[in-house]
Amino acid sequence: MTTSHNILNCRFDAVSEAGAAQWAQETLRSGKRGHISTVNVAILMMMRSDARLKKYIDDSGLIVADGQPLIWLSKLLRKPLPERVAGVELVNELVNVASEEKAGIYLMGAKQDIVEDVAKNLTEQTPNAQFVGVQDGYFTPEEATARAQAIRESGAKLLIVAMGVPRQEQFLQDHWEDLNVQLAIGVGGSFDVIAGRTKRAPQWMQTVGLEWFFRLSQEPKRLAKRYLITNSQFIWLSGWALLGHLLGLGKTTTQSDARQPLV
Ligand code: UDP
Repeated sequence: MTTSHNILNCRFDAVSEAGAAQWAQETLRSGKRGHISTVNVAILMMMRSDARLKKYIDDSGLIVADGQPLIWLSKLLRKPLPERVAGVELVNELVNVASEEKAGIYLMGAKQDIVEDVAKNLTEQTPNAQFVGVQDGYFTPEEATARAQAIRESGAKLLIVAMGVPRQEQFLQDHWEDLNVQLAIGVGGSFDVIAGRTKRAPQWMQTVGLEWFFRLSQEPKRLAKRYLITNSQFIWLSGWALLGHLLGLGKTTTQSDARQPLV
């Protein structure tokens, strides 16, 4: 049984990192198919103006909150999510689960040397992991079908795509039927982190909800406008949601159900 909550118009499944891994294992064992979405504040705001992205995320078998501010908001709204589940950490969990289930893993995203380092680092950590494909994430729209076919032919059961949002979601959405994988996840810039090319924010910054600030300090030119817009929008919408909650106007949108993977 997974409880889900609607927070700022997105369904979030109330699972911990271990719970997400368990969901992945059950999906692999069941023979069904499903994709996992990790939603942070920037993605949650992006979904409001990108209907395709919203549909992809709404259709996910599992949606987890990737950011401390979302966890705080969930608690203030009395729709508690147990903990932050970050894409970069979920990669390790999923690789572990896939290796236990003897399921082939396909990695696609970032530059070729980076994704190869990711496979190397993950193999050191999980020696039984079977990587059946390791490909960069740079290709033209015309090449996308061939990429999907290569994934299908590899026989992979788990596909991890790290091409940034919403690029990775578009690829998965466009080719979902052709890929024939059981489990897929988009993990944004996580390959750069796992390969040691970019640093993650220190733990204390993650805990106090300042991971975005760390990223901003690393790439101020590219990210300033994005974070200024999405953070202000998030604070504004959270304020209204909290006011609605305090005035008893909140919708009863919490559900308890056996979350089913997509078939
Ligand atoms: N990336 C990719 N293909 C592309 C563009 C980006 O594989 O066509 C990779 C990039 O190398 C990086 C990750 O996607 O590892 C996230 O990229 P970026 O930081 O530009 O994404 P954003 O933060 O804008 O979502």
